[in-house]
Amino acid sequence: MLSKACSLVASSLPRCSSSAAPTIREAAVVAAKRAQENGLGKPLLYGIGTLLVMPLRTLHGVGRMFGAGRFLCNMTSVSSSLQIELVPCLQDNYAYILHDVDTGTVGVVDPSEATPIINALEKRNQNLTYILNTHHHYDHTGGNLELKAKYGAKVIGSAKDRDRIPGIDITLSEGDTWMFAGHQVLVMETPGHTSGHVCYHFPGSGAIFTGDTLFSLSCGKLFEGTPQQMYSSLQKIIALPDETRVYCGHEYTLSNSKFALSIEPGNKDLQEYAANAADLRKRNTPTVPTTIGREKQCNPFLRTSSPEIKNTLSIPDHFDDARVLEVVRRAKDNF
Ligand SMILES: [Zn+2]
Repeated sequence: MLSKACSLVASSLPRCSSSAAPTIREAAVVAAKRAQENGLGKPLLYGIGTLLVMPLRTLHGVGRMFGAGRFLCNMTSVSSSLQIELVPCLQDNYAYILHDVDTGTVGVVDPSEATPIINALEKRNQNLTYILNTHHHYDHTGGNLELKAKYGAKVIGSAKDRDRIPGIDITLSEGDTWMFAGHQVLVMETPGHTSGHVCYHFPGSGAIFTGDTLFSLSCGKLFEGTPQQMYSSLQKIIALPDETRVYCGHEYTLSNSKFALSIEPGNKDLQEYAANAADLRKRNTPTVPTTIGREKQCNPFLRTSSPEIKNTLSIPDHFDDARVLEVVRRAKDNF
């Protein structure tokens, strides 16, 4: 069961200078703990303001307590006025509210249902201008029509899904650049989970919305694509800088970590990350966003050259990366 608390993260963050330096998630954990201690039952809003008022010593302590400094120290120093708010929806989906603080422009990525989005917007008296969909599945588009009717928001999605995304107004394709209130949005076609899946990369904020293509420690099921397509899509995503924050469509990290550990038990980075994810979920804290760098160290679908994974799954040496991914995908589907 996901916490209904929203967590707000800003993309203007100081670069970490040591493994014990504070991060947004640490600040969020501190804020949550403090709220609990203070008996606050209302939803929490975490932001850059919270981060900046946190005493450094407290944050260092929390980082050590969770043994997580190494993984959580991954924020880039970028100049951006984009805030990203994570909104839990349905059972384990995440929608993301985008807020440009300079213009007040608001968008939402993958609203699987309207109510949690409306609640979050009403709390801050915000309007909704854009709805961005990564793919056509109902648990990513289910709120489109209600939100469009209420706010007059424009729906944006892949040109390939023009007949499958409810209420679509603006269609985009591979390599297109779309602007969200002055923020460049690069469109990346990433087929595999569905044929029309796209990811939205915000280079100025060091963030990418990966829907059901790349999860933390896994990738989406291959409903409409081949292993080769998924492999190519994932390679495209992980070519981004390691510190890029990955906002995926579901909170699957804990269960994914069990499969990942079952096929690569000797991966120390994975062991540490899995323990951290378990800690976070015990506290109903999201494990998202992850980062490209962390996924490259730990995600089995990005580690098709790992001798340990090949050995565990008895994959012949002559298999290419896409065939290795296919075997890993099949093993996960049956896990
Ligand atoms: Zn999907």
